[in-house]
Amino acid sequence: MTANQNTFEFKAEVKKLLDILVHSLYTSKEIFLRELVSNSSDALDKLRFQSISGTEITDKDLPYEIHIDFDEKAATITVSDHGIGMTRDEIILNIGTIAKSGTEEFLRQLAESKSEANNIIGKFGIGFYSVFMVAKQVTIKSKSYKPDEPAIIWKSDGLASYEISEMEEPMQRGTIIEIHLKDDAKEFAEKFRIQSILKKHSSFISFPIFLQKEKINTITALWREPKSSIKQEQYNEFYKFLSYDMDDPMFTLHKSVDAPIQFNSLLFIPKKNVEMFWMNRDEYGLDLYVRRVLIQHKNKDLIPEYMSFVRGVVDSEDLPLNISRETLQENSVFMKISSSVTGQILNFLLETAKNEPEKYAEFWKEHGKIFKLGYTDFTNLEKFKDLLRFNSSASESGNDLTSFEEYTSRMKEGQKEIFYLSGNNRSAIELDPHLELFKKKGVEVLYFFDPVDEFIIPSLRKYKDFEFKSADTKDLKSLDKLEDVIEDDDTTEKLSKDDEKQFSSLLSKIKAILGEKVTEVVESKRLKDSPSCLISADDGFSSSMQKILRMTHQEVGATAKIFEINKNHPLTRNLLKVFIADANDDFIPQTVMQLYEISLLLEGNLTDPHELVTRTNKILEKSSGWYVATKNL
Ligand code: ADP
Repeated sequence: MTANQNTFEFKAEVKKLLDILVHSLYTSKEIFLRELVSNSSDALDKLRFQSISGTEITDKDLPYEIHIDFDEKAATITVSDHGIGMTRDEIILNIGTIAKSGTEEFLRQLAESKSEANNIIGKFGIGFYSVFMVAKQVTIKSKSYKPDEPAIIWKSDGLASYEISEMEEPMQRGTIIEIHLKDDAKEFAEKFRIQSILKKHSSFISFPIFLQKEKINTITALWREPKSSIKQEQYNEFYKFLSYDMDDPMFTLHKSVDAPIQFNSLLFIPKKNVEMFWMNRDEYGLDLYVRRVLIQHKNKDLIPEYMSFVRGVVDSEDLPLNISRETLQENSVFMKISSSVTGQILNFLLETAKNEPEKYAEFWKEHGKIFKLGYTDFTNLEKFKDLLRFNSSASESGNDLTSFEEYTSRMKEGQKEIFYLSGNNRSAIELDPHLELFKKKGVEVLYFFDPVDEFIIPSLRKYKDFEFKSADTKDLKSLDKLEDVIEDDDTTEKLSKDDEKQFSSLLSKIKAILGEKVTEVVESKRLKDSPSCLISADDGFSSSMQKILRMTHQEVGATAKIFEINKNHPLTRNLLKVFIADANDDFIPQTVMQLYEISLLLEGNLTDPHELVTRTNKILEKSSGWYVATKNL
């Protein structure tokens, strides 16, 4: 024990994590090596960045290399680099605690999906700890690039604590990780095994890797190679290396641009979009290189957030190597590259949508939810509109998708608007009374299943010359001019003049019963099979907008709407008879409240169903009584 030695307990969450890793039965323990090599590579990238920026660096001229050594007999393996190194405080901060917020989530995920543990480990940036899947003891020796920092030695068995002290013997800048393998992990000190792990997981590391002094990798910047010389297989491997995804990508986009600005981009769209739901949304971005030198991992200014599912690399000759990350956004060359990358992705998607609609549908299913948020990208709004997809009344099933372009190509002569209606799913929307008029007129209606759909419509304003309109708005006059496709087979007798008068009194009575709940009660021109429905006033919130607001916990209550009554419905006719006989019959308010709440229920805005249920039971009780009586039972 030296004087400056210190023993520290691991933080509780680290202990929990270590406990899982140490006792893990996961088959892919080998990924510990991938994690250590990638940490070394990061440390070298960071050093190079400091060096380019002109920072003063200890041991300036050491090579940018990663060394792996092993001793089969002693069952040890050592990974070392001359990267940025760590000071004592940095080791305590980086290795003894888990700073990142995702740990809890990581542990939950790990418990849920054991098979994917190796992927999750890398994604959550707790890679170093994975070494304790194979190690009974680990020593880290590190010397920071910062001048006058002493070399530090850190030791732990990965159980509860670690020791830290200053090193007595001298050390060059960088980090050496010495691993004493557990008895059941001795295979990781065999040359062949190490070689094959490195080939599998680390072949795209951009620094030379030496195994017992023998260089074992060739460094290729795949994105700089001519497209024709690269096999999809190589793209897939690179994608997996980059993303920690186990699957091949859904799409690969490789472009080389020469004018007006030179840059290469290699972009991937993953097959599955799982991470966004549990990972930091901050995790997205593209790796930015300048002349093959990594400037920044996951740069977020290269792609807009609505494309955050895209992974990949951008490399340019035209940016200065010593560009600072903070000023990137003010650099006009960088901004041009960034908007060009966005354009590449949009054009690629447009082409795919046109030439391979089934593939585009797959993309939409996986990434559409995030992609839709592109309604804020005003520069690209026209392209964006062409990439949106919806289900519609013209679709054969709930899974079919259609575009605005296809919708407009099917429009009726004289139709000036694109109609939509929101609902939870296709069968719910198809029951919606608001659709009855559209069916009669043969006018297609887009179905919005995602609350966000309606939210983005106002930003789109128009598609070509066509305005968007919700099928539940008040003003549907434009439909009057269109011919019916379904013959009016209504054989209901016309009301006499007197009865017509009584009907308008009934409407006033209904308004009196509902009071402030509705703005007016009117005869419906749109209903065919339903007795009544609620209509949004043109300046009010539509029903699904109310739902969104409620979901985001904003107090909205039910916004007062127009209540439409179908004059020819048998129920209305019966109600009218009762009304004529006795305008104050209790049956009237009961029925009106029932109709009103059913309309609220249908549009998903009935917050408390109790009264509806009580009334329904009473009505059933009475009608069953009448039924028994008529049957003489
Ligand atoms: P991640 O690499 O995802 O951040 P790790 O648990 O693998 O997570 O490493 C934690 C931190 O320890 C790193 O972010 C880095 O700051 C530091 N570190 C690990 N290995 C090295 C190394 N070889 N050289 C310098 N710093 C390192």
